[in-house]
Amino acid sequence: MLETRDLKKRFGRLDVLKGIDIRIKSGITTAILGPNGSGKTTLLKSILGQVRPKSGEIYFKGQPVSGKWEYRKEIGYLPQSSNFPENLKVSELIRLVEDIRGRGDRKNHLMDIFNLNPSLGKRIKNLSGGTRQKVNLLLTFMFDCPLYILDEPASGLDPVAMLGFRELILSLKEQEKTILVTTHIMGLAEEIADEVVFLLEGKVYFTGALRDLLAHAGEYNLERAIAEIMMKQHGKNSEIQLV
Ligand code: ADP
Ligand code: MG
Repeated sequence: MLETRDLKKRFGRLDVLKGIDIRIKSGITTAILGPNGSGKTTLLKSILGQVRPKSGEIYFKGQPVSGKWEYRKEIGYLPQSSNFPENLKVSELIRLVEDIRGRGDRKNHLMDIFNLNPSLGKRIKNLSGGTRQKVNLLLTFMFDCPLYILDEPASGLDPVAMLGFRELILSLKEQEKTILVTTHIMGLAEEIADEVVFLLEGKVYFTGALRDLLAHAGEYNLERAIAEIMMKQHGKNSEIQLV
C-alpha cells in the first residue's frame, strides 16, 4: 500500500533520514520502532507530505505521491503533537473538524470508549495531557479510512483509555485496515504489530516480522531485544569516537 525508496531528509546539517526503503503491506499493522530522534516522526510526516524529502520517492498504491494531495484523503493521521486551537471548547473543535471533513460517523462510540462526555464543555488549553490525547484519537478515528498513520497514539493514556485504545485497534485490524504506528510501549507493539520496522539513526536497522526481530536479537521479549540492539549500537558508536 505504501512504499518508500531511498528516502533522504536533512534538517540543516543533520541527516535525519539516510535512505529509507520500506514497504507497508495493506490490511496489516506495521510498527515503526526506534529510539528518540531516530527519525520516526520525520518519516511519517514525509509520507503525509508535511515534510519535503531531499531525495527519494514515496508511493501510495503504486503511484508516486510527490506534488499530489488527494491520496491524503484516504489517510487518518494522528500527529505526535496536536496543534489544536487552544481557546476552543472540545465540542467546538469536534464541530469544526466535522465542518471540514464531514460527519464523523463513529463519534459517539469513541466518546464512550474514551469517556469524553464530561470534557466536551472544557477549553482545549485546560485539558490534561491524557484527555488531549483522547480528543486527538477521537478526531482521527471518527472518520473511516483504509489507512491510519498513528504517531505515538498511546502516549499519556490512563489504563482505562489504554484498554479502550487496544480494543479499538484490534477491531480495526479485524476490519483489515492498514495501520502504521510508532510507539514506545513495547507491550502494545507486541500485541498489535504484525510487522516491525526498526529505525536507528535514520536508517532501517531491521524490517520484517516481529518474531524475526526477536530471533535476530537473540531475545524472547521485545523490550529486551530493542534495548540489546540499542546498547550494541551505543557501544559501536563509542568505539568510533575513541579511535
Ligand atoms: P523520532 O520521532 O524518532 O523521535 P524525529 O523524526 O522527531 O525522531 O526527529 C529526528 C531528528 O530530527 C531529531 O534529531 C530531531 O531533533 C530532528 N528534527 C525533527 N524535526 C526537525 C525540524 N523541523 N527542524 C530541525 N530538526 C528537526
Ligand atoms: Mg516522534
